[in-house]
Amino acid sequence: MGYISVAVDGPAGAGKSSVSKAVARSLGFVYIDTGAMYRAVALYAIRHGICEDRQRIIGSLCDIKIDIRYSENGQTILLNGEDVTDAIREESVSKGASAVAVIGEVREKLVAMQREMAKRGNVIMDGRDIASVVLPDAAVKIFLTASADARAQRRYKELKEKGAECELSAIKEDIIARDYNDSHRQESPLVRTEDAVLVDTSDLNFEESVERVKGIIEKAIG
Ligand code: C5P
Repeated sequence: MGYISVAVDGPAGAGKSSVSKAVARSLGFVYIDTGAMYRAVALYAIRHGICEDRQRIIGSLCDIKIDIRYSENGQTILLNGEDVTDAIREESVSKGASAVAVIGEVREKLVAMQREMAKRGNVIMDGRDIASVVLPDAAVKIFLTASADARAQRRYKELKEKGAECELSAIKEDIIARDYNDSHRQESPLVRTEDAVLVDTSDLNFEESVERVKGIIEKAIG
């Protein structure tokens, strides 16, 4: 029997990963966070001081080994054997990920890994190009979005709760810049495919978003 794939795409901060993770847990699917893979490549590039050097990043790809492990506590990302689950969440790495994600060779490597992962079980995979490029035959495609204001507010709250110093206006600017980069790049830009169901979470809380997405999947797969 073939496995079921669910593609969840959308801009940064719409709640894709937290919603997808919760839905996956509830349906017994494996959640695959493809953004984490771009972040791991970016962390490698930052640490090696080659962030600005496209050719050296491409040349290093064979030295970058990314593994995703799953446990009770969620997903662990390993970069050449080192647990970088927390390190890849740094703001500098978010920017770096958006930068390395424009490199075609980086995408090729990660997309191939992602397709392999989807062959091994029922998955919910989130990213920017899942429905359009990685899994065009996914059984269910969801485009999860929210207004830039709503996304900035959430991120602000999250950072404040962690005790970080931050400014709402700067966060919003950052979100808008990342959206622009992600939707205007040449390589696999963020797009809503025609067959994707739109879910706007601007006025939904977390539980409502999870229920909405779960409902769409259950209806589609019967
Ligand atoms: O989803 P997350 O914010 O962790 O992704 C970090 C960056 O990686 C995004 O801003 C985007 O540029 C890139 N990305 C991508 N394709 C994906 C997932 C993430 O280009 N499938």
